[in-house]
Amino acid sequence: AKNEGANRYLFFNDSMNKLAVKRLQVENLIRHGLKEDYFTVYYQPKMDIVTGQLVGMEALVRFITPKKGLISPAAFIPVAEETGQILEIGEVVLQKTCEDVKRWIDMGLFHGRVAVNLSAKQFMLPFLCEQIDDILRRSELPSYHLELEITEGTVMQSPTLAIDTMKKLRARGIHLAMDDFGTGYSSLAYLKQFPLNTLKIDKAFIDDMNTARGRNMVDTIVTIAHNLNLTVVAEGVEHAEQLQQLKQLRCEIIQGYFYSKALSAQEFGLFLKQQKQQ
Ligand code: C2E
Ligand code: CA
Ligand code: CA
Ligand code: CA
Repeated sequence: AKNEGANRYLFFNDSMNKLAVKRLQVENLIRHGLKEDYFTVYYQPKMDIVTGQLVGMEALVRFITPKKGLISPAAFIPVAEETGQILEIGEVVLQKTCEDVKRWIDMGLFHGRVAVNLSAKQFMLPFLCEQIDDILRRSELPSYHLELEITEGTVMQSPTLAIDTMKKLRARGIHLAMDDFGTGYSSLAYLKQFPLNTLKIDKAFIDDMNTARGRNMVDTIVTIAHNLNLTVVAEGVEHAEQLQQLKQLRCEIIQGYFYSKALSAQEFGLFLKQQKQQ
């Protein structure tokens, strides 16, 4: 019996086991959060780099519990992807986003597009298009107000299937953006075949624009995007200098703390009203 106790002690100190326990805790927290409706959506403005006007926004999920406060997407999204809970979270995000945007449109405050992130699992759902149709219908939001952001990893899992799904979404008037471009592995041969509207340059590249090499890299990405007739969004723009450089490189849209962080629906409504007065 003495030995057994020692074994158990070793067992519980195993770092992999600690990780599994932590994962289980997050999984339980997410299940509880879904039941209690603790998932909400924040919105980060996307601005036209030339006019400085709002053209759209990105919907970003926020998990806020009364006990633990804000839980970062970095802490729960990877777990939710593994457990499949991301499917339910994704549905909640899409539903809430469409309701919020419909309200702003009806108030005459907005007429652009909202971009929603889709995880790989969500994108692979055989009934994804039907699910989106249902949500759009229920919220009475016309499909041309919606854009979906997907990553290279998502589409490269099965490029042929991905192209098929992308075409179906495009046929509905939904726009598609390649998110975090340059951080995953995608081939230019495929990029050409994907029916995309937008290419989003990852923040890591924007961060590197303080070096000549970094600026060259962004220049190259913008050139590729424009050759494919894609609109370029730079994410994570924090400084006026980055904005100036991106303008010179003919990047069209910027998103980042330079203009605004992600705002709650209430704050974003106020942001829209201020924009309108300008
Ligand atoms: P992402 O799609 O690349 O989203 C951009 C992230 O960069 C957001 O972090 C945003 O708040 C942050 N960001 C934007 N501008 C700046 C800036 O100027 N400086 C800095 N330091 N950060 C900036 P967030 O909201 O924490 O989201 C992290 C990631 O979680 C997202 O990266 C996305 O991959 C994922 N995510 C967020 N919401 C959803 C969702 O509803 N569904 C899915 N599947 N994934 C989501
Ligand atoms: Ca995104
Ligand atoms: Ca991104
Ligand atoms: Ca990113």
